[in-house]
Amino acid sequence: MNAIRPLRTATDLRDARLIDTDQMQAVDAVAARYAVAITPAMAALIDPSDPNDPIARQFVPDPAELTHLPEELQDPIGDAVHSPVEGIVHRYPDRVLLKAVHVCPVYCRFCFRREMVGPQGLGTLTPDAMDGAFAYIASRPEIWEVILTGGDPLVLSPRRLAEIMQRLASIDHVKVVRFHTRVPVVEPARIDEDLIHALKASGKATYLALHANHPRELTAAARDAIAKLVDAGIVLISQSVLLKGVNDDVETLAALMRGFVENRIKPYYLHHPDLAPGTGHFRLTIAEGQALVAALRGRISGLCQPSYILDIPGGHGKAVVSSASIADQGGGCFTVTNFRGEEHAYPPTV
Ligand SMILES: *Cc1c(COP(=O)(O)O)cnc(C)c1O
Ligand code: SF4
Repeated sequence: MNAIRPLRTATDLRDARLIDTDQMQAVDAVAARYAVAITPAMAALIDPSDPNDPIARQFVPDPAELTHLPEELQDPIGDAVHSPVEGIVHRYPDRVLLKAVHVCPVYCRFCFRREMVGPQGLGTLTPDAMDGAFAYIASRPEIWEVILTGGDPLVLSPRRLAEIMQRLASIDHVKVVRFHTRVPVVEPARIDEDLIHALKASGKATYLALHANHPRELTAAARDAIAKLVDAGIVLISQSVLLKGVNDDVETLAALMRGFVENRIKPYYLHHPDLAPGTGHFRLTIAEGQALVAALRGRISGLCQPSYILDIPGGHGKAVVSSASIADQGGGCFTVTNFRGEEHAYPPTV
């Protein structure tokens, strides 16, 4: 199979042997509701003979997506309540999201913004809306960091990215620009000199949070793209989503986090899956997530430890949700649990 463009339709998926003819109708029904795209790089990574392939599970539509549960929300992390002007989400005092674009090179089946992204989604900000977003940032001296997300900001051309970066460069109080993207993994050929140059155009510190969920995503081409970014002085951090059937076992998570560190990416966040519509088949319980994260501690290097994070529904922000390793016993005494699960008194009893 030599796909040269993204797979978007049931026919594309059937021709690539990622689904059978008898699954086409169900895939069409999902595609009518949620955007579908699989880049050639990701399609090539799928083993069509494995019904549980973790890459396929992330990108190939599943009829289970049409099952909506009562607790699921159109806007699971409450972007809308914190959006003062179009394209900006301002939840924390010192940083804003700038959502310049609502398309992605791939569409993840568990996407938390699935009601906003895609060809039928909120599109790209108009020049007027862009002006409004920059005016907002410029008028708030407390904004120290601008986080470009979406959608995937790296689908924009280097020319448009450089334009955004130059506008941010002219705002003194903005010191850090962060990109949240899947591009270095799902479309590594986009990471070329022009794009890297554009990302650095502001002269500010540029951070890039790379979204990947399975160690197989770190292909040779992805590792090359990552190395180019790091060599250019861009700081890479990771974000992953804990997903049932993709990475919900200790070996896979350990390999993923080590893969990040080996490629000079500091593990940052491991997200508990959000309550996005039609994603119940990906969700595990918080207790299951806590057990997985606890098992990583001590087993792999401290460099490889992500923070286990829940975005509280309703727009209340992120919280660390790993199980506590310390319990307050009163009177200044604590019980601390080590990586083997052994409890120790602090201060030690004499
Ligand atoms: C997740 C998020 C951020 C970034 O949070 P960090 O903890 O700094 O990574 C900023 N603003 C909004 C609205 C967010 O949802
Ligand atoms: S790349 Fe991010 S925004 Fe785009 S579909 Fe995947 S999770 Fe959603």
